[in-house]
Amino acid sequence: MVAKRLALTLVVLLLLLSIAVVMLWRQRASIDAIDWPTAALASAETADTVTVTWLGVSTLLFDDGETQILIDGFFSRPSIADVVLGRPVDNDAANINYVMNEFRMRRLAAIIPVHSHFDHAMDIGAIANRSSASILGSESAARIARGAGVPEDQISIVEDITAFDFGNFHVTLRPSAHAPIGWRGSVPLDGVIDESFEMPQPISAWRMGGAYTVVIEHPQGTALVQGSAAFRKYALQDISADVVFLGVSQLESLGKDYAELYWQHTVTATGSHSVYPIHFDDYLNPFGTVILPPKIIDNVETTAKWLNEFRLRWDRETSLFMPEFGVPVAIFAQPAAEPRSLIGDN
Ligand SMILES: [Zn+2]
Repeated sequence: MVAKRLALTLVVLLLLLSIAVVMLWRQRASIDAIDWPTAALASAETADTVTVTWLGVSTLLFDDGETQILIDGFFSRPSIADVVLGRPVDNDAANINYVMNEFRMRRLAAIIPVHSHFDHAMDIGAIANRSSASILGSESAARIARGAGVPEDQISIVEDITAFDFGNFHVTLRPSAHAPIGWRGSVPLDGVIDESFEMPQPISAWRMGGAYTVVIEHPQGTALVQGSAAFRKYALQDISADVVFLGVSQLESLGKDYAELYWQHTVTATGSHSVYPIHFDDYLNPFGTVILPPKIIDNVETTAKWLNEFRLRWDRETSLFMPEFGVPVAIFAQPAAEPRSLIGDN
């Protein structure tokens, strides 16, 4: 009798707990609550204007009409159930085909995962196989590519600061860090992929592998992509960038002081005139769905408020833009602000 009652109490408690989790999970701010304006210069004036198309999370397609560079490659979207249950997930071939057609990826020269977690590198091999693009990145990224059957001469492993030329793009990978958003300042799913990597795999198999800051120079301007909210003090001081794509996933969980230093050492240090936050959307949703993550996972509203504050405090002439999914933006069609010196060393 006692055992029966105990069991019943446990069931009721579990039920209440699941209801609480589901309710918390549903608490998300609307994307409209974020007051970054969308870029006004949404359409390219001429065919050779450099445009960038944001395809969710930190996947970005650079295009100057002749050459295309893809930062990350994440079109297959595992579900929350795949993550929670640790189910093996596979590349979504139909969606990859659709995306590459829809966004006219016919001149892809390079695919550059900012690190090799699944939300950045899941589809790099499948995309490389549907193009002649090179994959640039860590040994772990190379293993993902090889597992997909990408030929060795399409893979370049980058250990130190290394530059590549693709058409008029001069691309430099600079080894950097991943945001310390794991338990007690650790990096989640850290480490490397050190075995052959055949699909399907559970999402935990995509190890961080090594992170990069990517600098993309073009006669029309310079863009810098920081996919994960991490910085090394003064590491980017020698770079002058017009535009920064700023990864903000989980930035709020790292605190305002950290976020401000991140801004200063990434945006202020490079003197950029435009900042596009990226990696603010919930990546466990179908491709093309842009919604904010549950507040208990990542409070993007707070992040947005902070970034507005930092902009006013350190870089008044810099604009913050909300990237629009799937819309090519002429990112250099604005005059650059004067590079600033780094203030606030602490
Ligand atoms: Zn990551």
